[in-house]
Amino acid sequence: MVAMTATAEEEAMDTLTALSGSPTQPMGAYPGPTKLLIDGKWVDAASGKTFETRNPATGELLARVAEGDAEDIKRAVAAARRAFNGPWSRMKPNERQLLLLKLADIIDKNMEELALLDTLDMGGPLSRTRNNRQRALGMLRYYAGMATSVHGETINNSLPGDIFSYTLKEPVGVVGAIIPWNGPLTASIWKIGPALATGCTVVLKPAEEAPLTSLRLGELCLEAGVPPGVVNVVPGYGETAGAALSSHPDVDKVAFTGSHLTGQKIIQASAGNLKRVSLELGGKSPDIVFADADLDAAVSGASMAVFANSGQICSAGTRLFVERKVYDEFTEKVAAYGRNLKVGDGRDPEVQVGPLVSAEQLERVTGYLAVGQKEGAKALSGGARLTEGNMGKGYFVPPTVFANVRDDMRIAQEEIFGPVISAIPFTDVDEVIQRGNATTFGLGSGVWTRDVSKAHRLARAIRAGSVWVNCYQAMDPAVPFGGYKMSGYGRESGLQHVEEYLNVKAVWIKTA
Ligand code: NAP
Ligand code: MG
Repeated sequence: MVAMTATAEEEAMDTLTALSGSPTQPMGAYPGPTKLLIDGKWVDAASGKTFETRNPATGELLARVAEGDAEDIKRAVAAARRAFNGPWSRMKPNERQLLLLKLADIIDKNMEELALLDTLDMGGPLSRTRNNRQRALGMLRYYAGMATSVHGETINNSLPGDIFSYTLKEPVGVVGAIIPWNGPLTASIWKIGPALATGCTVVLKPAEEAPLTSLRLGELCLEAGVPPGVVNVVPGYGETAGAALSSHPDVDKVAFTGSHLTGQKIIQASAGNLKRVSLELGGKSPDIVFADADLDAAVSGASMAVFANSGQICSAGTRLFVERKVYDEFTEKVAAYGRNLKVGDGRDPEVQVGPLVSAEQLERVTGYLAVGQKEGAKALSGGARLTEGNMGKGYFVPPTVFANVRDDMRIAQEEIFGPVISAIPFTDVDEVIQRGNATTFGLGSGVWTRDVSKAHRLARAIRAGSVWVNCYQAMDPAVPFGGYKMSGYGRESGLQHVEEYLNVKAVWIKTA
């Protein structure tokens, strides 16, 4: 019900809620943007094609979205280049800062709607997507701060005579941003934020499975006053739109988040103009529980390190190493924790675990469930798709804990990207360091112990971009996040993230 005093935002939210239905009511027509955002205008794809995006909890059609391909990428990159060379390049750092702060305020006002959009489009439960508020706003405000903090240096040189040297930090130019579907709002902001802070322009290609939030964010950028062409959003498929963006000769940098296989294609595609590339890829992160840990805290921590977002988190702690003397007790508790989580349509605010994003992802994850059982692992909880009631229309997999897992099993080696824990026993510190590192990936890791020297030792020994001790998945805009080994290179968040969007120019001035 819309009260007389409701704000415009509240009214828009009520409309969206009504249209988006509920777990028991079908939805109406999606009212938000579904075209391409190029040069500040909403346009159809040059080909006229559209594709469907669906709600993975119900299989219902949410919207048909314009399907960008190489021609649209060409137009968007041209718009981004014009914007980069235009008034945007003369905007002062504090003006870009104000834009970022304004965008943060606008997102704050529209957060309920954005959370619901993520939930509808990719399935993450509202209990999670609503909690992205702090992260989304924190990122934008952090990058706003960086906009006025970026600076070069004066550097003493040893050349004879009077010759003065300093550096300038300059925006790298047009950035192609390619993101996956597992957190559309925050993933989009993670690319747009540093671009606006540094004075770059962006062509964002969201994932085909979940393009709606990125489009709405593009609309909110315009509302905040971001000039036309600075942020362009072109949904479409990876093989067409994504490939065109990563190979485009006038794109200066690609900021990619996704799988290592696509990451390898991006590097190849970038070779033509040697564009700069940063890669946030997948993982098979070790989460190591020592018997001396606060085991109750470790049970919930290790569970949610994988079950959150149905395991669709790149740094999920999916290889759960448990010290042998507590292995049986601990894995049983994690399984019980998983069984107690409420699985269902994420629009129900009580739900803790939503569906997987798509039929394809369901097939992939249930495929691994079968592989695990065939390899001799034992499912202590979960282990098969859920189909009761309405769940059969969606893509639901319950929290699953596999015990009796050996390091050489596929479920211990390959990224599943579902709510699946592979629990592996170990006996001593040196052994678990060696086994924990025996993976091609190196993104996240966890250590649960009350022994401070063990904690420090593992923090150094684990080859991964993040080590979480007695916690998991802590993230902050000021703290760098990224991979070792095949989890990619470059960092997002922190000072280094901003540097990735900058070129350094050395200037020499002979003064005598
Ligand atoms: P993906 O298949 O690699 O797709 C990621 C993005 O790349 C999508 O937008 C996709 O487009 C696009 N793409 C596909 N093929 C492409 C190509 N040849 N050229 C250019 N772009 C192309 O990954 P996903 O299945 O969506 O996401 C899951 C993966 O992302 C997991 O491996 C996960 O670990 C990783 N991930 C990493 C992080 C991190 O921060 N490190 C965060 C989240 C996810 P379409 O799908 O629309 O066709
Ligand atoms: Mg969808």
